[in-house]
Amino acid sequence: MDIEQIRKQFPILERSVGEKRLVYLDNTATSQTPESVVRSIVDMYDHHKANVHRGVHTVSQEATDMQEHTRRRVRDYIHAESEEEIIFTRGTTEAINLVASSFGDRFRDGDEIILTVMEHHANIVPWQLIQRHKDVKIRVVDINERGELDIEQYKSLFNDRTVLATFTHVSNVLGTVNPVKEMVQIAHEHGVTAMIDGAQASPHLSIDVQDLDCDFYVFSSHKMYGPTGVGVLYGKKEILESMPPYQGGGEMIKHVSFSGTTFADLPFKFEAGTPDFVDIAAFSKALDFIEETGLDNIRRHEEELLQYTTAKLMEIPGVKIYGTAPHKSAVLSFNVGEAHNYDVGFLLDKLGVAVRTGHHCAQPLMERLGIPGTVRASFAVYNTKEEADIFISSLNRIAPMLL
Ligand code: PLP
Repeated sequence: MDIEQIRKQFPILERSVGEKRLVYLDNTATSQTPESVVRSIVDMYDHHKANVHRGVHTVSQEATDMQEHTRRRVRDYIHAESEEEIIFTRGTTEAINLVASSFGDRFRDGDEIILTVMEHHANIVPWQLIQRHKDVKIRVVDINERGELDIEQYKSLFNDRTVLATFTHVSNVLGTVNPVKEMVQIAHEHGVTAMIDGAQASPHLSIDVQDLDCDFYVFSSHKMYGPTGVGVLYGKKEILESMPPYQGGGEMIKHVSFSGTTFADLPFKFEAGTPDFVDIAAFSKALDFIEETGLDNIRRHEEELLQYTTAKLMEIPGVKIYGTAPHKSAVLSFNVGEAHNYDVGFLLDKLGVAVRTGHHCAQPLMERLGIPGTVRASFAVYNTKEEADIFISSLNRIAPMLL
């Protein structure tokens, strides 16, 4: 894998912050976008913009074909059985809200949902919103000192009122890769539906929803070198068919009259209104980028960066790392002594290094760890050892000022 060739596809990596060259280590929040994706967006606006699924005219059909091409690419990327199982949303957050609203329609007072303490707010708050109308109980799986889920406790949380188990594939704070296949299997042994939040797995790991046997799998394009405004809900066909629509409007109907409306077949039943077809079309170029680079190559490179940087980080006095599972993604959360994470992030920014600070939309996890937040550095395929060195030497400069 030729990293320099890869970097050339991302013009932002050439820019500076103040006097310093940008070292972008905030990939968990959003990854950068290669030129092929940007070109595809411009090309669509320049040559193929017409509303999808509505016109017999040539341009509309081209736009529709481009959108539907991406649906097939996504189906193949996650090894779904059928493109009817691929619903486009605005992102992971909307996909989870869709499931909470539509699948959640069947929940009854007294039902129980299992979550984990490492969930992103996107996989907590939509379930809490259900509690405004229904007396649904949320039960939470804990972690051990390495940041791994307590699977024995997970097993013990199931009972005859459990209706859903939902968990992240990879923690956006700890980097832990959870044993999701086993967790789905345990849920199914109890006759419980299982959903995986794949927002942090889809850019790094090969995903086979049929092998995982999950009922739902959700993720966002913008974390996968793709455009913003596009997400995916995968759902097993028979479950999606049994769910009521999420939003009403154009695109999602068969026939509308004032005496009643019938709904479109999958996947359109869940895609009310004009979709973000420009970005959806461009998302296929991001999948091309990942597949041409090779997920195995990406994973290997990021793993090397993780090992290399973790070892150097551990040598800096006062640094504490959160998340030390042996099976983890290239995410490094840490604090420097008692220093506030914002101060560390602010000073790193002065040296050109972009990291994320704060609670990372995982406040319950922060509470569990007994801290207000962390500094988080995360890698993508275009990051280099030289950048890791700049990050480490910058921290070596900063740490003594803060301790
Ligand atoms: N789930 C996880 C694990 C995440 O890391 C994120 C974003 O950081 C989300 C959900 C929400 O994704 P989005 O903001 O793209 O909807």
